[in-house]
Amino acid sequence: MNIAFIGLGNMGGPMATNLSRAGHHVTGFDTASVTVEGVTNASTATEAASGADIVITMLPNGAILRSVANGIIPEMKPGAIFLDCSTVDVDSARSVADQANAAGLLPLDAPVSGGIGGAAAGTLTFMVGGSDHAFAKASPLFEVMGQKAVHCGKSGNGQAAKICNNMILGVTMIATCEAFALADKLGLDRQAMFDVVSTSSGYSWSMNAYCPAPGIGPKSPADNGYAPGFASELMLKDLRLSQQAAEAADADTPMGQAATDLYQRFVEEEDGKGRDFSAMLPRFESRGWG
Ligand code: NAD
Repeated sequence: MNIAFIGLGNMGGPMATNLSRAGHHVTGFDTASVTVEGVTNASTATEAASGADIVITMLPNGAILRSVANGIIPEMKPGAIFLDCSTVDVDSARSVADQANAAGLLPLDAPVSGGIGGAAAGTLTFMVGGSDHAFAKASPLFEVMGQKAVHCGKSGNGQAAKICNNMILGVTMIATCEAFALADKLGLDRQAMFDVVSTSSGYSWSMNAYCPAPGIGPKSPADNGYAPGFASELMLKDLRLSQQAAEAADADTPMGQAATDLYQRFVEEEDGKGRDFSAMLPRFESRGWG
């Protein structure tokens, strides 16, 4: 297939390389000049997208997605797939899908879970909104870039699944970090804490797969000075999306709101910006009760 890949950052770069290694012809565009293995650079997004069988976008937010979509949709081949893998608000996903449908394209919103490790290893999970036909056509690409693709229903439902998942992630990471800081102060060894919780009812992905304590559990950003990984500001972005969606849908999400408030303080007033979202642990370590 001729694939255009727009947004070749931490996630998009390795995803595009995996598609190229699988034998696809990949043309890429990113506003930052980047060189990505297996990807031929185009000078504009439109140049990359025109003539492509499938256009994949992996961009920072909904406003940028809308602006890129406005530029490329009129230039895309009728019947081509517009596969957006960015994490954006549900409204942007549905509006871009409407625009793509009206132009005779096959839109899919397919945000991912698995982080930069999953992008490089080709083990992402895709949460997909859009038609059965579009999902079936894109499935071979999901198999290259990921290990699982769940069809969640109509356009926008992939984003709905993603922001609900990441609301749980933000809340469990905070809970895991504050529990480690409490365990420290109670004199409990961190390895013992991990050995108990990771096999007891407090287990979670945050504890078991991405342990925020350095030197404990599988290798994680904590073992690399909390370099992201998944930056705190991206966690904040996703929590804001879940709270925005909760408000629009009239859903009560008090833990999601508490996590949003804490990550906002961490990023905007403390030292969280540019650090992995698991750096909540040193934040709690340096604080006391009240
Ligand atoms: P990133 O900032 O590394 O990459 C985004 C890229 O988009 C950058 O290279 C940037 O130059 C480019 N870009 C910005 N505007 C552009 C435009 N108009 N045209 C073309 N390129 C443009 O971010 P990332 O970590 O790769 O994340 C991308 C998306 O994936 C985000 O929506 C993020 O929320 C989501 N996501 C990230 C992770 C993660 O662990 N990093 C995990 C899951 C989902």
